[in-house]
Amino acid sequence: MNDSASRAAFERARKVIPGGVNSPVRAFLAVGGTPRFIARAAGPYLYDLDGNELVDLICSWGPMLLGHAHPEVLAAVGAAAAHGTSYGAPTLAEVELAEAIIERTPVEEVRLVSSGTEATMSVLRLARGITGRDMIIKFAGCYHGHVDALLAAAGSGVATLAHRAGAGPALPGSPGVTAATTADTVVLSYNDRVGVREAFTTYGDRIAAVITEAAAGNMGVVPPGVEDGVGFNTFLADLCHANGALFISDEVMTGFRVTRSGQYGIDGVEPDLMTFGKVMGGGFPAAAFGGRADLMQHLAPVGGVYQAGTLSGNPVATSAGLATLRLATDEVYAHVDRVSAALQTEVHAALSAAGVPHVIQAAGNLFSVFFVSGVDSVPDYATASGQSTTAYSAFFHAMLDQGVYLPPSAYEGWFLSSAHDDGAMDRIVTALPAAARAAAA
Ligand code: PLP
Repeated sequence: MNDSASRAAFERARKVIPGGVNSPVRAFLAVGGTPRFIARAAGPYLYDLDGNELVDLICSWGPMLLGHAHPEVLAAVGAAAAHGTSYGAPTLAEVELAEAIIERTPVEEVRLVSSGTEATMSVLRLARGITGRDMIIKFAGCYHGHVDALLAAAGSGVATLAHRAGAGPALPGSPGVTAATTADTVVLSYNDRVGVREAFTTYGDRIAAVITEAAAGNMGVVPPGVEDGVGFNTFLADLCHANGALFISDEVMTGFRVTRSGQYGIDGVEPDLMTFGKVMGGGFPAAAFGGRADLMQHLAPVGGVYQAGTLSGNPVATSAGLATLRLATDEVYAHVDRVSAALQTEVHAALSAAGVPHVIQAAGNLFSVFFVSGVDSVPDYATASGQSTTAYSAFFHAMLDQGVYLPPSAYEGWFLSSAHDDGAMDRIVTALPAAARAAAA
């Protein structure tokens, strides 16, 4: 497959943009090779600068639930833009988007922001402001955006505890994140209830909140485990409430994607505060955080916790999100569920036929493939880290050569859309056997 135009663009990009990209995973460092530069997209397909048509299995890392360039979303965006692109004053569309989120989830009030990172950063400030406490518990392998306090492996005061719980860094430690910023962040192992109990025993009255992905999707897909009939999210919420802490569910990735309401639609756990993004922005920079009214009332201008944004509730972004949520009917979710289940079956068959050890895990229609051996499930980041990134890279490139664009990292979910029709699915399924053989080599 010709990629000369992408290569030239990457060379040019690297001279003016660090690493040639504006978000690290796009650079293909984890899989090697040259990233494809995209010229346009339609339905389930990306078209690169060389004119290659690629079946898209990342859907902009989640937002494009309806596929690319959906005509009704584009019409809504065009109509909104024609009325001006930003006012810095309130609009009715913001109220409608807030109402649409509230109607689908347990939150009672919503504040719109421009990125998932901004949502998680703001919700931590709010949780700390409400409780008057400093410490935050997060889980290794859960990504909540590039908020300093959440890019922590573990502050020195909690390193022993984190180590005991088998936790590892959520991301490699980043220079520029100061020890003081992360000193109040406790990193524990996902699905490890003993570790969480121990943290509350040790730090109970200092913990402001536990933040977790509603179902982990950033170490590959790791759903919350169920023990004795009690799901991990219920366990966390109960423990928070017994200790005067807040339970924050990050549904930036899962919200309005894995079901109409997100992971909440699967396990029904009511968090105190939630974060949203991706699908609710319809491919534009829009995100949100929300929660119980009594908690959200602590935000300025009503309460004392300051939070603001020049482009928050931007009318064009809001119109895209609103159109997307309105078009995301039960049929859309039924279709995405169906193609996701079919694809999981086909991937499992192809990898098994080629003798490639693997585990496939899903949260609703979001799934990922771990190239691990010797385990039959992946409950946490330590286990996910045991996978063969070499096998994944071979698999990834064999799929790309055949026109299928997978996530360029073994630690990511595979995203589908309502536009993934029989033609797109056939293309993926046809490509699988050769890719599985490449992974086996
Ligand atoms: N939270 C979760 C669960 C995410 O998956 C992401 C991004 O992938 C974020 C937060 C950060 O969102 P953004 O990239 O819009 O800042």
